[in-house]
Amino acid sequence: MTLFNKILSFTTLSLLMCIAATHTKKSTGNVKQKQGVKRVVIDAGHGGVDIGARGSYSNEKTISLQVALKLEQEIKKQMPDVEVYMTRTTDIFDNPKVKANKANAAKGDLFIAIHCNDAGPIRHSEFVGYKTVKYKKGKKWKTRQEKQYRTYTTPNPAKGTETFIWGVGKNEQKAQALRDFDESVNDSTIAEENKKMNDPEQIAMVSLKMSQYAERSRNLAFSVQDEFVKVGRVSREAKQRQVGIWVLQAVAMPAILVELGFISNPEEEEYLNSEKGQNELSECIARAVRAYKANIENKMSSNGGK
Ligand SMILES: [Zn+2]
Repeated sequence: MTLFNKILSFTTLSLLMCIAATHTKKSTGNVKQKQGVKRVVIDAGHGGVDIGARGSYSNEKTISLQVALKLEQEIKKQMPDVEVYMTRTTDIFDNPKVKANKANAAKGDLFIAIHCNDAGPIRHSEFVGYKTVKYKKGKKWKTRQEKQYRTYTTPNPAKGTETFIWGVGKNEQKAQALRDFDESVNDSTIAEENKKMNDPEQIAMVSLKMSQYAERSRNLAFSVQDEFVKVGRVSREAKQRQVGIWVLQAVAMPAILVELGFISNPEEEEYLNSEKGQNELSECIARAVRAYKANIENKMSSNGGK
């Protein structure tokens, strides 16, 4: 490297560092950083007139509320510094929009929806024998043998747990939720006119937060499933879902939806209603949240609190 090149690269480096420093100063000056995981929102699925899925003797709205309340206690026990906000603590109905508004107003750092899965009964058809049927051909009566079937249903054997995050197809809705409710994006120091004029800093922050929240949600979803597997549940894995979980993209925070198990499977219905099952499920989710929280806070402290 010639002396000239050395001077040139040194100048370039200094210039880049200057830009970086200015940018960092600007970002931390204008954009509030969320401080770890301080408040968790738990949303017990369904409620009131919305019963959710039905099992042979129980229903989804009741199980999801019972597990949500146990999860609240378990989070408080495992993480005394975390506040828990419940979208419902009794058997009431709110439409998903109201639930999302409650979660956003509570300014949660994490959203966990609790539901039960359901798979329709399996239809069977069984040959039971022949029936003699009379019919007329011309002027003569004849007979023929017709096969007879009995139809019946059996419970669907589908079983196991699934954890969902919002689908990539719903990213624009998630971005809107962030623009409306996320303090680190919806900054009061950015003038309203600038927001309307697509403030470049806000656009950059929305896209940064979007990918950060998606990654965090995915990590937590996998971790919840890992905890379930450790206690012997069947894992149907962590997935993205395109339909049916609108609330996940409507809340301005990382969000997961846990399907505790299949209420349509008699063995799992028993488990979902049992004290042991409900304790196990809430403990698993709380352990995953604790690991998630520790991971984020470790990253923040190694980044100097950013
Ligand atoms: Zn549900």
